[in-house]
Amino acid sequence: MQYSQSLIKAFGDLVYERCISSGQVSWHGDFSSILGYPLEDMGTDNSVWLDRLYPEDQARVLSAIEEAFEQWQPYTIEYRFRHNNGSYIWIQDRGIPKDAIETDAADLKIVGVMRDISDRKQAELDMHHALIRERELNQLKTRFIDLASHEFRTPLTSILGFTELLEQYSHKFDPEVHRSHLRRIKNAAQRLQTLVDDVLSVSRVDAGNLELELAPTNIAMLCQDILQELEVVFDNTHACRLSLAESLQGDRPLLPLVDAKIIRHILTNLLSNALKYSFPGEPVDLEIHCAKNHITFFVTDQGIGIPNDDLLHLFEPFHRACNVGKIPGTGLGLHIVERYVNLHNGTIMVASTVNSGTQFRVNIPCIFIDDFGLSPQNVSFP
Ligand code: ATP
Ligand code: MG
Repeated sequence: MQYSQSLIKAFGDLVYERCISSGQVSWHGDFSSILGYPLEDMGTDNSVWLDRLYPEDQARVLSAIEEAFEQWQPYTIEYRFRHNNGSYIWIQDRGIPKDAIETDAADLKIVGVMRDISDRKQAELDMHHALIRERELNQLKTRFIDLASHEFRTPLTSILGFTELLEQYSHKFDPEVHRSHLRRIKNAAQRLQTLVDDVLSVSRVDAGNLELELAPTNIAMLCQDILQELEVVFDNTHACRLSLAESLQGDRPLLPLVDAKIIRHILTNLLSNALKYSFPGEPVDLEIHCAKNHITFFVTDQGIGIPNDDLLHLFEPFHRACNVGKIPGTGLGLHIVERYVNLHNGTIMVASTVNSGTQFRVNIPCIFIDDFGLSPQNVSFP
């Protein structure tokens, strides 16, 4: 059969004529510009074409061609095909069994056209990803609205309730009751503040607006400060034990170059979880190790633990384990922690056993500097 080579080149397609019984193929078209090798490299045997077909697409493509041949019907198939540079391009292959009258039965042929559709496939893939992302955002929005209606409303209800009580009956309350109502209002307002801060942190990290502010940090002082703060918040119900690598203690401690605000946020979140999800009296441990170029924090509790199914989703926003009962929370803390750890190029791992306890391990790459020559103002522990 004669083909107009210039017409084929003008279309930018590859044309083939394949003999089904012998497996012989003749090729036409500008192979170099589409597949990066000359036409001769395709050979005259069908096995070369088959060999360059993406392995996972082979069975599907062959059965489509076989079916078309059995039913004497045209076919259109899409598959990945190997380019000379080793990558795969997407091909649309449209073929038709050649009119039987033209050929004798022993020489049944298929003629077809292969077209590079990689750009279209990429656009489809981008659109697919965009759709998935949009669906995720919608789910997140729904979860946020659910959460907002519950988590924002609960503290607001108590603020309004106790304020009304104080407004109407404060003259009847003795000072201790008065103080306790005010404390409840304050706690509820603090819960709201934390929630708003968390939501803002998520959107700031998501928008990529956060940059690390690295400074030599006195880890020992930072950790003591965090623990003291948490002991007050949790009314000293648990023993918080700090164990520091020797090189971080003493008069001349090693000072890691880290973002102290971010480390504070990470540790505060992990420690408040450890306290929140264990019973009063159960100890919570913060252990810090350091090596040449990283610092590792271990936060360990002996609390309620995390069921295996929940471990898989722990860092997803708004995810809370099924065993939290009435312990309040929004499921945002660990999501933010993970983002902050990533920002610091670190890693976070968790090991947990239900009713036995949980350990979070955070590893932060950093360099250490000696405190020599630094004035206290240059050392941070915000
Ligand atoms: P918040 O956003 O106020 O911190 P939260 O504590 O529920 O709320 P995360 O800190 O993100 O949210 O934790 C997610 C879930 O992981 C928790 O709801 C809890 O089920 C589980 N979890 C986290 N830390 C612990 C822990 N130390 N022990 C047991 N469960 C934990
Ligand atoms: Mg939490």
